[in-house]
Amino acid sequence: MSKSIQQILEQDSLTKENIIQLLKSTGEDEKALFTKSSEVKLNYIGKNVHFRGLVEFSNICKKDCLYCGIRVGNKNVDRYDIADEEILKAAKFAYDNNYGSVVLQSGERSDKEFVDRIENLLKEIKKLSNNELGITISLGEQTKETYQRWYDAGAHRYLLRIESSNRELYEKIHPKNENHAHETRLKCLKYLQDIGYQTGTGVMIGIPFQTYEDLANDLLFMKEFDIDMVGMGPFIEHDETPLYEYRDQLMSLNDRFRLTLRMIAVLRILMKDINIASATALQAIDPLGREKALRIGANIIMPNITPTNERANYLLYQNKPCIDEGADDCTNCMEARINMADGEIGYGEWGDSRHYASRRKDA
Ligand code: SAM
Ligand code: SF4
Repeated sequence: MSKSIQQILEQDSLTKENIIQLLKSTGEDEKALFTKSSEVKLNYIGKNVHFRGLVEFSNICKKDCLYCGIRVGNKNVDRYDIADEEILKAAKFAYDNNYGSVVLQSGERSDKEFVDRIENLLKEIKKLSNNELGITISLGEQTKETYQRWYDAGAHRYLLRIESSNRELYEKIHPKNENHAHETRLKCLKYLQDIGYQTGTGVMIGIPFQTYEDLANDLLFMKEFDIDMVGMGPFIEHDETPLYEYRDQLMSLNDRFRLTLRMIAVLRILMKDINIASATALQAIDPLGREKALRIGANIIMPNITPTNERANYLLYQNKPCIDEGADDCTNCMEARINMADGEIGYGEWGDSRHYASRRKDA
């Protein structure tokens, strides 16, 4: 093992250059990084893993992100929108099975009908769970007023990935128009934080044109923004998206996977008490991908509880796992996997970000 990685890991803070070196580490150096990040996780978070039952309730989207399989420009997608009763049934399943929290995610819409509907669903989920289920939402960019209404209706965590903190890179992976502006994304993250949400963000790892420096800057951005939760996963190309054209320039899937693990490990060292999700896309590359991420720093896992008949249509990327399992199968499988990763499931707990609590106290 090179001495310098060990020295970096003993420092109290990390420079951008240190981070780049850690992100490039291999072999014994990478192992040392993972040992350190697991120690930090155990010291600050413990063994507890929290569930968020994920309901991907609609693939209807008004946006055209150049990487995403359900972008509006992809005409070969069967669009679906799960009925409210089915969404509520899934939330009830999460409640009855002591998941503690649910995540509602979909393509982006901001029409009045959609905003009203989400507000109503949030209230209904609170009602059916005696106010006990925690609710995370991930519904893209909205006005401050909409975010506030959804917060008042019961959502308390929001996931909005920055995708890249580098504006130029962001512009290369999105169409050039007002609907896909980097400034708007930053403004939305600020709204969420100001309203009082536990604010989550993240990036895709291994997107075309991305450099190690970009990734190091992404991690520093998360720290600087004082983010409470992060979900990062490998980019996986989809053949019906414009970015597919650049597939020859991509790292191998396995390299994207390892780099994602190193990103999680470095983030855990940088931000010791935040929640870090183990992304589903990890499992698309390695069947034990999510468990590996839990071992080296992640503490949140999102079992898919979307009604099975629609799962195959929420294909952001190819080879998405678990599209044909029912929610029961998913829970059993997940429990076994977490035990294997030496984790303990925090059943019935919200599993809020500790960082959020200390941030609010300081404020
Ligand atoms: N529409 C909302 C939004 O964009 O925030 C929520 C759903 S969107 C599908 C959730 C995340 O999926 C995006 O933030 C993006 O990072 C990720 N994603 C989209 N296409 C992907 C791909 N090809 N590979 C990996 N992740 C992808
Ligand atoms: Fe729509 Fe989100 Fe996919 Fe962009 S990433 S096309 S906003 S679902």
